[in-house]
Amino acid sequence: MLSSLQAPMERTCPRCQSTQISKNGFRGKKQNYRCRECRRQFIDNPQSHRGYSDDVRESCLKMYLNGLGFRAIERVTGVHHTTVGLWVKQADAHLQEQSVSTEDKSIAPFPEVGELDELHTFVGSKKQEMALDRR
Ligand SMILES: [Zn+2]
Repeated sequence: MLSSLQAPMERTCPRCQSTQISKNGFRGKKQNYRCRECRRQFIDNPQSHRGYSDDVRESCLKMYLNGLGFRAIERVTGVHHTTVGLWVKQADAHLQEQSVSTEDKSIAPFPEVGELDELHTFVGSKKQEMALDRR
């Protein structure tokens, strides 16, 4: 579960935001990295400067598209509603161009943080509805 969340994530330097990152051994159990641009060393901890993984953000956006309010999404995912609002704003331009073509991608596996039965039930039933609408 965890590895599937972390593997595809692009790492950026916490100082200069460069993606030119090379691995630099381990510090304790954590992967240590070094930025090739500014040579800053940092430990693998994308949560600290990225907030949430792309998977979590995508799931929140899908819930928003399915009609959930920001506060409902916060209850289900634990992501603060202002963060969700920000993501929606950021994604808005994209969504208008692409007219929601992401629906056929299956929902990414979700970290188990409780209250997920509600989420699975909701997303599952909504997905069926939308699939029917679309044909
Ligand atoms: Zn850097």
